[in-house]
Amino acid sequence: MAAYEYETHTYDVVVVGAGGSGLRATLGMAEQGLKTACVTKVFPTRSHTVAAQGGIAASLSNMGPDHWQWHMYDTVKGSDWLGDTDAMEYLAREAPKAVYELEHYGVPFSRTEEGKIYQRPFGGHTTEFGEGPPVQRTCAAADRTGHAILHTLYGQSLKHNAEFYIEYFAIDLIMGEDGACQGVVCWKLDDGTIHVFRAKMVVLATGGYGRAYFSATSAHTCTGDGGGMAARAGLPLQDMEFVQFHPTGIYGSGCLITEGARGEGGYLTNSEGERFMERYAPTYKDLASRDVVSRCMTMEIREGRGVGKEKDHIFLHLNHLPPETLAERLPGISESARIFAGVDLTKEPIPVLPTVHYNMGGIPTNYWGEVLKPTADNPDAIAPGLMAVGEAGCASVHGANRLGSNSLIDLVVFGRAAAIKAAEVVDPKSANPDLNKASVEAALDRFDKLRNASGSIPTAELRDEMQRTMQADAAVFRTDKTLAEGVEKMKAVAAKMDDIKVTDRSLIWNSDLMETLELTNLMPNALATIVGAEARKESRGAHAHEDYPDRDDENWRKHSLAAVEGNQVTLTYRPVHLDPLSTEAEGGIDLKKIAPKARVY
Ligand SMILES: Cc1cc2nc3c(=O)[nH]c(=O)nc-3n(C[C@H](O)[C@H](O)[C@H](O)COP(=O)(O)OP(=O)(O)OC[C@H]3O[C@@H](n4cnc5c(N)ncnc54)[C@H](O)[C@@H]3O)c2cc1C
Repeated sequence: MAAYEYETHTYDVVVVGAGGSGLRATLGMAEQGLKTACVTKVFPTRSHTVAAQGGIAASLSNMGPDHWQWHMYDTVKGSDWLGDTDAMEYLAREAPKAVYELEHYGVPFSRTEEGKIYQRPFGGHTTEFGEGPPVQRTCAAADRTGHAILHTLYGQSLKHNAEFYIEYFAIDLIMGEDGACQGVVCWKLDDGTIHVFRAKMVVLATGGYGRAYFSATSAHTCTGDGGGMAARAGLPLQDMEFVQFHPTGIYGSGCLITEGARGEGGYLTNSEGERFMERYAPTYKDLASRDVVSRCMTMEIREGRGVGKEKDHIFLHLNHLPPETLAERLPGISESARIFAGVDLTKEPIPVLPTVHYNMGGIPTNYWGEVLKPTADNPDAIAPGLMAVGEAGCASVHGANRLGSNSLIDLVVFGRAAAIKAAEVVDPKSANPDLNKASVEAALDRFDKLRNASGSIPTAELRDEMQRTMQADAAVFRTDKTLAEGVEKMKAVAAKMDDIKVTDRSLIWNSDLMETLELTNLMPNALATIVGAEARKESRGAHAHEDYPDRDDENWRKHSLAAVEGNQVTLTYRPVHLDPLSTEAEGGIDLKKIAPKARVY
């Protein structure tokens, strides 16, 4: 047994993660009078949310007519009918409230002439249940919306006496013998001490796992730690095969050019100078949803109409827009284009390529953020003591494909919902459950084993192998052959974890060990993704399967659940929630409006 001393901290709630979702949950929990800690491996305002550019969706109707039901319809269609109806209704209905709340907290939104919150068009957001023109629904603070939101939420959390544990790395969940989560074991990165956080409720807000791929817009810290911890605690991961590729990552670096660029009038061309999106999506053109645009770009490149020496990318034009508009509305990407592509976007097009951007899948939850542990007779059974919010969770509002600007709103709506629920189920006066020391020791044993790992493969090398495998075999286009080969390759890659080599044995600022822990989290996420993809014999949203080009609602309108153990993945399925929260008579949506149909833009 590993001999590590640890310091114990006792709270009502411990939130792991200080991105938009973690901070909104932390703030809400503290506001409700729950003794709340937030632990985070990076300084809160360095979380990936800070990089969100384009904006946050809510039907405020500031720049033309809009309605929450139209937002819900677009989200349902965007999800390719895989999202849970109750959760999507909750998101669209609560969105305006959540944005006004952010405004009152102090988020410096861009403004219209009349002083209202500025809203821009975004892909897949329409009017009149997809029958009308694009809508201006995406609220923005120039092209630095995430930055504005994150800083404001951090300030508000401090105001409400939430306690922050910064640069603490969560290693594993502490699970009671009764199966309830009791807390989390952390390693303090700057002094090497170990900390046990006891809690009546743990909230995983650890973000996505974009770094399972070679080219991603997400930060290097997006390593799916929450999914890794959940998998090790015996919980399944949901819909992991759905990985969003953003159409406009800068060619070479992967750095993001926001969809807001096309929202402001930007468009794509191929080597013939053709605006090819007009051919594929005659109505919404460059503002079709992301999976559609990414696929069309890939098709153009595969058919030999890519630009550049290798004919392997596409051009994004903004050079026809007035320089003042670019300076006012898109200052951040003007800088990115200059630094990462050497392009002055007022004069030349930007070279772009579809790049991994978002994980629709994650830890399954209901719309209150409570984690689900489905059983044979109850697909919605709850895992007590555990919640998941933000990109780490899967409520599921994005289904098979997320609409742009629907993540930031998901962070605040469900961060807030989790706090409302926690206030109901957590009793501040009750005692914390007796600590299951065996679970703490198991986490520390795993930690110690990795710290002393003396195999033959350095972490960086194995990570690279995983990233290249995922990039090659679980990308925009998928076939039976590439997926089957990919599964075998990924299993072989994951098996090499047993032969990992860590060279630094210290406990202080040991980035070698931290990256190894992160790799142990990326692996189960990557495995679940590729195994889930191989099994899904249809095309839906971001999962475009060349051998099964059509959506198959009869057999596949269901959520995949992946249980990962070592390099083995066991798949089961659970039904999609088809019932809304309110009936039409109660002011809810007419279900006929959201009945499945072909998804054309
Ligand atoms: C470049 C870019 C631009 C985007 N633009 C938009 C946009 O305009 N609109 C939109 O709606 N969406 C956008 N998205 C998506 C959206 O920003 C993300 O999905 C969202 O910010 C994720 O927030 P989060 O709270 O789930 O996690 P994150 O912001 O990723 O934060 C994760 C937190 O978890 C902590 N953490 C993780 N692991 C551990 C661990 N082991 N121990 C302790 N702490 C841990 C980290 O320290 C961090 O605080 C964008 C994404 C990217 C990458």
